[in-house]
Amino acid sequence: MDYNYLAELLFPQIIDCPSDVEAKYPPRQLPEGAKVTRFAPSPTGFVHFGGLFPSTVGERLAHQSGGVFYLRIEDTDAKREVEGAAEGLIKTLAKYGIHFDEGAVLDDSGKISDKGAYGPYKQSLRGHIYQVYAKQLVREGKAYPCFTTEEELDELQAINKKEEIKNTDWQAEAEAKRAAMLAGRIFTIEEVEEHLKAGHPFVLRILANGDSERKIKFTDLVKGALEIPENDEDFVLLKSDGIPTYHFAHAIDDHLMGTTHVIRGEEWLPSLAKHIQLFSYLGFKLPKYMHIAQIMRIDENGNKKKLSKRDMGANMDDYTSMGYCPEAVCEYVMTLLNSNYEEWHMQNADKPYTSFPFNIKKMSISGCLFDFAKLNDVSKNVISRMTADEVYELSSNWAKEFDPELYNQISKNPEYTKSIFAIGRGGKKPRKDLSVWKDVREYVDFFFDDLFEIKDNYPENFSRTDIKLTLEEFAKEFDINDDSNTWFEKIKDIADMLGFASDMKAYKQNPESYKGNVSDISMFIRLAVTGKLNSPDMYSVMQILGYDRVINRVNEMIKVL
Ligand code: GLU
Repeated sequence: MDYNYLAELLFPQIIDCPSDVEAKYPPRQLPEGAKVTRFAPSPTGFVHFGGLFPSTVGERLAHQSGGVFYLRIEDTDAKREVEGAAEGLIKTLAKYGIHFDEGAVLDDSGKISDKGAYGPYKQSLRGHIYQVYAKQLVREGKAYPCFTTEEELDELQAINKKEEIKNTDWQAEAEAKRAAMLAGRIFTIEEVEEHLKAGHPFVLRILANGDSERKIKFTDLVKGALEIPENDEDFVLLKSDGIPTYHFAHAIDDHLMGTTHVIRGEEWLPSLAKHIQLFSYLGFKLPKYMHIAQIMRIDENGNKKKLSKRDMGANMDDYTSMGYCPEAVCEYVMTLLNSNYEEWHMQNADKPYTSFPFNIKKMSISGCLFDFAKLNDVSKNVISRMTADEVYELSSNWAKEFDPELYNQISKNPEYTKSIFAIGRGGKKPRKDLSVWKDVREYVDFFFDDLFEIKDNYPENFSRTDIKLTLEEFAKEFDINDDSNTWFEKIKDIADMLGFASDMKAYKQNPESYKGNVSDISMFIRLAVTGKLNSPDMYSVMQILGYDRVINRVNEMIKVL
């Protein structure tokens, strides 16, 4: 077969050779050890929590090593493309600290454009490049056109399968597929000419030279040493519309763009043999690979399941409406990605997660477990380290969009709201009441008359008379100018007066001799003033509420008791 002639027949419009393309993509001039990584999403919807993994790893490895991190939009499947997804993706990732040095970016008008010398970074704009390499592979007899349609292949496969009864099912299937492919290979030049003349579509297939009985030894930087069967499948390089498959585009793009480390989900591991074969056919150096384990969750029955698209926590946009601060999500991702992150963080509590030396060797091989409780824990810590001003800024921004009623209240008097957030903040052991901005309403509501309501009830075991007497006595003695000691002494006095222990030690030694203790007295007052059985430090709360509000609420409660 005259392969040059075949190549001309198939790609008459392609004049360039690979060397012409290569000339436009010179090797990158980077310091020794610098890693070039990329995030290569298909714009088919929202950013999945799982997408934060490869992108965070890529970002960290590139930026830690003085390398380059770029964004490539893999939009070769027009059917699955969702309008605006690529733009949304760039914005969402930016929120989570994923910034690209190069690649697809948003211009001032919010449209996607290119930044960098290794583009275009949108695969749909790289059609010509793929065809240049496709033509070259045909010239070298490594790829061939297949005019057999999918339906015909299925038919062939079915016939072949019947003849393979001696094999086990999966072997039979694999063999049948291969035989079907081979049937599609057999075209003479004359036949090709005829098909083309008749305008029949074709796909371009690789002419696989592997043997699945033979194993390739391969080291994945996450999974470790692997042995994978060679590829013997004539997989498709170009679809009938000339658009490349992921396999073909991946090899060409990552080569030309100088990717040193391909970081992707482990669902691509079964395709690795195909990629190894392609890189070798194309004469490209194979990049290093890191296949990241899938994110799992525990389902209702306690079983481990993949965190799927529809699961709570999958869509990154939901984190915004739930009111997570991106920094908390990033830290949580770090705890899942690197087993020593938490330990590092404990020793470096004041440093941002970006100072953590991310280490490939500490990555989980088998899969991380997604867990909201853990995320909330991380998040509580993150928020507890913020200043009251920061909490105000971030929570009011959130409330503006997602809880306007709360926003109206808290933004009326920012200084007042900030003083609420300042309670118990700044010390060695800051309060940890908030894990998401959604929690703010519940935390601050009683500071605002319009949101205040009595939510809890007094426990049954206390006499209403004692509660009433406590409130009356408190109202009589309350002075907003008291310091916290004087204020507390007054509460203790009420305890003594009513037969409650003012001294906790004495109470513990002899609980039967008392009706209760001073914390019960505080609770009587707390419920009247805050409507709840739990609240931050009551002295601070009252200082913020001011004399009138405290007394009014206490008197209201006395009335209904
Ligand atoms: N477009 C592929 C995906 O979204 C990219 C895989 C890769 O990073 O190579 O799964």
